Amino acid sequence: MDLTEMQEMAVPRSGRAFAPPAEGAAQRHAAVAHAVVLSICAATLAGAFLLRPDEDGLSLLGYRWPFDCWLHETLGIRCGLCGLSRSFCSLVRGDIAAGLHFHRLGPAVFALFCLEIPYRLGALAAGSRGIDARWARLHLGVVALVCAAILVNWMVYLGGLIL
Ligand SMILES: [Zn+2]
Repeated sequence: MDLTEMQEMAVPRSGRAFAPPAEGAAQRHAAVAHAVVLSICAATLAGAFLLRPDEDGLSLLGYRWPFDCWLHETLGIRCGLCGLSRSFCSLVRGDIAAGLHFHRLGPAVFALFCLEIPYRLGALAAGSRGIDARWARLHLGVVALVCAAILVNWMVYLGGLIL
């Protein structure tokens, strides 16, 4: 067997480089994860256009939105995400002051949801090449920062209830 024959065995006739099955499965899982996050962010932003916020909650076409925060309903304590829906609904209408009023981190979380859309589209378009490692690290850092900020914000709120 000469070198050319060995190369032909390593690279299938389709011309695609050989990839172990596990790598292909990981890429498919990553693509599904990107598509799921993309769908959630797009649906959330679309929903924010449809729902109208007020001090008591949300309404859809004049009807009260029935889903409230379980923690707030049962214990009267706001969770770390309470007010985010109303904040998003205000922000999609360009009302930054109301967005801040309903949740002080609302604009930051809203910006993250908006930026997720081009990021996930870029990741899906990159396909098997994968998204640039620097972008992936930056993205992970921003997500971690926003999550940490939400947690700290909630801790400050809980601390205010105790003290
Ligand atoms: Zn809540």
